[in-house]
Amino acid sequence: MSEYDILIIGAGPIGLACGIAAKKAGLSYVIVEKGCLVNSLYNYPANMTFFSTSERLEIGGVPFMSLNNKPNRAEALEYYRRVTQVFSLNVHLFEEVKAVIKNKDNFFSITTSKNNYTAKHIIVSTGFYDIPVLMHVPGEEMNKVVHYYKDPHYYAFQKVLVVGAQNSAIDAALETWRKGAEVTMVVREKEIGERVKYWVRPDIINRIAEGSIKAYFSASVIEIRKNEVDIQTKDGPVTIANDFVIAMTGYRPGFDFLRKIGIELSNDESLRPSYDPETMQTNNKGIYLAGVVCGGMDTHKWFIENSREHADKIIKNILAMQEK
Ligand SMILES: Cc1cc2nc3c(=O)[nH]c(=O)nc-3n(C[C@H](O)[C@H](O)[C@H](O)COP(=O)(O)OP(=O)(O)OC[C@H]3O[C@@H](n4cnc5c(N)ncnc54)[C@H](O)[C@@H]3O)c2cc1C
Repeated sequence: MSEYDILIIGAGPIGLACGIAAKKAGLSYVIVEKGCLVNSLYNYPANMTFFSTSERLEIGGVPFMSLNNKPNRAEALEYYRRVTQVFSLNVHLFEEVKAVIKNKDNFFSITTSKNNYTAKHIIVSTGFYDIPVLMHVPGEEMNKVVHYYKDPHYYAFQKVLVVGAQNSAIDAALETWRKGAEVTMVVREKEIGERVKYWVRPDIINRIAEGSIKAYFSASVIEIRKNEVDIQTKDGPVTIANDFVIAMTGYRPGFDFLRKIGIELSNDESLRPSYDPETMQTNNKGIYLAGVVCGGMDTHKWFIENSREHADKIIKNILAMQEK
């Protein structure tokens, strides 16, 4: 059984930043990732452009060069892979952490899909991209409904319903419309989201205004069938012909996993995990949180650019505890 000072769960940008900080501090560590390296970024839409400029996505002090101010997904994959190589990070890929149990001597026993480990400290940097927020409507389980949008070509000349009005929904609506899809949007709110990338927002508003993309605001999906979708609009129910539904209804952290490893969640709808913002240590001493998982359901609070500093806070605290 391998023994480490720190076991880091998740090899997203922030898990990698934690690995770099641990390595620089001379602590032994392993990063265990259930998918490929930066798995969430890998699963982003193929043509996605970050809203952050490249220097704000940098970790470990390694410069991130991109062709434009705002890098795209392919450039980010290149960058984080190179950073992993430069620091020779100890990353175990395609290995899921299943259980974390604290022993009497305050060491943790970790069981993964492939191994068993012991570690003095755990960093949970599991993000929020693994579990989609469901609409809970009949038909949502059909193959024609996706919660992860990849590429527009597949939808060419098809009747596509896009649900949502934040960045992912707007990108999917515009891209598929530009590849010849007949696009309808169902938006719960009264208008296109305020947080939509400032250079994209006018594009979608103009496409809706000119009638190229049909949008129902203050509306929701009621039922999805093989060739149709029922929508509740502010003017009453509407049924439209439909081939595919791209449900960009958001994602949420793995709350069951957090509870299972002893992390308390707030009682309100944000389900924010309990941690000390100075040290990032949770109520379960020895377990730390890092990255976007910290926000609970509030997935717009933390980004790479403002959560990469979690890594240094955690390692500083671990070093301080060791000196005591
Ligand atoms: C479409 C989109 C665009 C975004 N654009 C930006 C942007 O421009 N700028 C910005 O700063 N932020 C952006 N974000 C927000 C956020 O910064 C990213 O989601 C970023 O990936 C978060 O990094 P992270 O390391 O905290 O989590 P993630 O990158 O999600 O990494 C978590 C990792 O943990 C792994 N994991 C989960 N559970 C387990 C387990 N039990 N065992 C092992 N591994 C596990 C996952 O597979 C994943 O690889 C965007 C988010 C989305 C969805």
